[in-house]
Amino acid sequence: MKSDCLFHRRKTTPVQCGNVVIGGDAPISIQTMTKCDTKDVPAVVREIREAVSLGAEIVRVSVSDVEAARAIKSIKQEVSCPVVADIHFDYRLALAAIENGADKIRVNPGNIGGKDRLLQVAEAARARGVAIRIGVNSGSLERDILEKFGAPTPEAMVESAKRHLEYLESHGVDGIVLSLKSSSVKDTIRSYVLMARETLWPFHIGVTEAGPGLKGTVKSTSGIGALLAMGIGDTIRVSLTGPSRDEVVVGKEILQALEIRRFGPDIISCPTCGRTQVDLIPIAKKVAEEVKDLEVPLKIAVMGCPVNGPGEAREADVGVACGREGGVLFSHGKVIGRVSSENMVTALLDLVREEAEKFRREQIGSSDRKTQCGKP
Ligand code: SF4
Repeated sequence: MKSDCLFHRRKTTPVQCGNVVIGGDAPISIQTMTKCDTKDVPAVVREIREAVSLGAEIVRVSVSDVEAARAIKSIKQEVSCPVVADIHFDYRLALAAIENGADKIRVNPGNIGGKDRLLQVAEAARARGVAIRIGVNSGSLERDILEKFGAPTPEAMVESAKRHLEYLESHGVDGIVLSLKSSSVKDTIRSYVLMARETLWPFHIGVTEAGPGLKGTVKSTSGIGALLAMGIGDTIRVSLTGPSRDEVVVGKEILQALEIRRFGPDIISCPTCGRTQVDLIPIAKKVAEEVKDLEVPLKIAVMGCPVNGPGEAREADVGVACGREGGVLFSHGKVIGRVSSENMVTALLDLVREEAEKFRREQIGSSDRKTQCGKP
């Protein structure tokens, strides 16, 4: 792949999912899935609200029986984001979820029960303007495809996705999203790359059953990050053995690290080395904690020595290079003053707030200028 192909987003057909658009020119959205029983409406609403407050834009709930499908109606009255119903095995649950206001239905082609049942779901979804995701999963492929390929290979997953896509397209269904997830990062990447040659429908990307904590985060980031770098992916779901809020936070960090979306400050802190003159880790953690709710895309550097600090953080908006006797403050790569060790963090945070204020004023100024020019 040529380097100029990196991050060149694949052209996709936009699909409406409640009040969020997936694909086209819409920002790559962040999804999660609730972990509690969908029938426990207050718990689901609490979980969704928390996820949304952290940046989730679409939330999926599992629908394992009719009561869960009915709960969607009450959940929808309490939350602002689109709610997606996750269906396995019983197509009638998909019909019930659509009837109860789900904004998108995820069906698993490996267990939805064949073409006729899928098309009944598709018909109901089309009548209500509800999108459908064909969610292929390496762990539950159709038997005949598994027999043909001998294993849940990327080619097998693509065959499953194509088969069900053809069913939907031949019946004029619009509003389709696809996913081809494996618990293997390599197979996930290859499946999406192969499928991207076959269709213009948008992709929901993620590595399935990525695992807990650090391992799950690294697996998800490797898979999602590689695909996004190739321009593949319109909505992302980090799948962790952990709370949904962690999935949202990791999803945001992936998009921010790849500079696809900016949600807040970036902390550039040095890894420390033999030249480090202070206990840098708690300082960097404190700064990160203090600025985490600042919705301004500043780059903030926290460096461990005055020798390389300003140089290493040349790209930062503000920063501090910590030394034994105090810190050197810098702004946009230039040294602007020195502070004592006691005042180092406070002085840096004051500088951050000043820069944030400047940024906000510039934003207001630029929107005023656009209004004066008669532009929206
Ligand atoms: S900034 Fe200084 S302390 Fe930090 S890694 Fe670089 S040389 Fe080491």
